[in-house]
Amino acid sequence: PEVVDQIAAGEVVERPAHLVKELVENSIDAGATRVHIEFFDGGRIVKVIDNGKGMAPEDLPKSLERFATSKISKTDDLWSLKTFGFRGEALASISAVSKLTITSRREGDEQAHQLICEYGKKRDIDKVGGSQGTTILMENLFDNTPARLKFLKSDAAENGAIKTTLKAMALSHYNVEIRIQENGKLVSFWPACKTRKDRVEQILEIKPLFEGEASRENVKAYAVFADPHNVAKTAKNIWLFAQNRWIQDRSLQAAVNEAYRSLLMHGEYPIAVVWVETDPDCVDVNIHPTKSQVKFQNASLAFRAVAASLRGTLEQAPW
Ligand code: ADP
Ligand code: MG
Repeated sequence: PEVVDQIAAGEVVERPAHLVKELVENSIDAGATRVHIEFFDGGRIVKVIDNGKGMAPEDLPKSLERFATSKISKTDDLWSLKTFGFRGEALASISAVSKLTITSRREGDEQAHQLICEYGKKRDIDKVGGSQGTTILMENLFDNTPARLKFLKSDAAENGAIKTTLKAMALSHYNVEIRIQENGKLVSFWPACKTRKDRVEQILEIKPLFEGEASRENVKAYAVFADPHNVAKTAKNIWLFAQNRWIQDRSLQAAVNEAYRSLLMHGEYPIAVVWVETDPDCVDVNIHPTKSQVKFQNASLAFRAVAASLRGTLEQAPW
């Protein structure tokens, strides 16, 4: 493969969790209502099966070309360009550092078609059996770039990162069924939900949950959270989403803590999931695929909206 593809691959697929995210995002973009993820060996083998719209046989090789996205056609789509970044790079990058088997069938197709691509070298397309949707099997990750292999952490750590990423994706797509198998064992099965709150309950396995909403100018926050007696020992149970993309943000995390202040003891952390939404041109979600940072035009509005979305309910309830 081209050196440039391998370099790009280092950006997009630093860790297996990142490529899992890209693959599942593609499934969701394809309108899948069911996504099944299987991974082995710390994510060096990953299989993602979806029931989305599938790809035409002639589009299979195209999906592996760099910058060959089917998702940006007009200038209105600039926002998605800005938000999701790295358009059309994920599959190209992954295929440069692994063996990919893509099997896809559209509605109305008589059968599925399969393309195998090994370290950037494409084989011929075959007709195979298969139901509607797309299955992507990735194997031998980084076997052609041993230096990268060394950067992977233990299988347990990589598996953990994959599961955390999938949890975040499931939280942000409550109406998609997600099923996860780790080393051949079913570890999560989350049928589609009707509301975000149901999804939080299903995934975090916590009851009761409360919800609240608040706006500050054009920034809106919606929170689902546990009562102050139901606490965690780390801040890992504060999940933040901006424009429905999972983000890490110290300021908004502090806003959540602030809302619980005086309700929690030292060393206790809240359990909360918060979605922040604003006008597309008032927020910059980092375009880098492996970082999930966000920049609000007005960070203080976002802080206040988040704190208020929790506080409204927290202050009323008789804990
Ligand atoms: P992007 O998602 O930014 O367009 P990718 O490299 O992730 O770029 O995917 C390239 C293209 O392959 C997509 O634009 C889409 O047309 C096609 N594709 C990838 N995965 C799927 C899938 N699961 N179902 C249908 N089409 C897919
Ligand atoms: Mg993609």
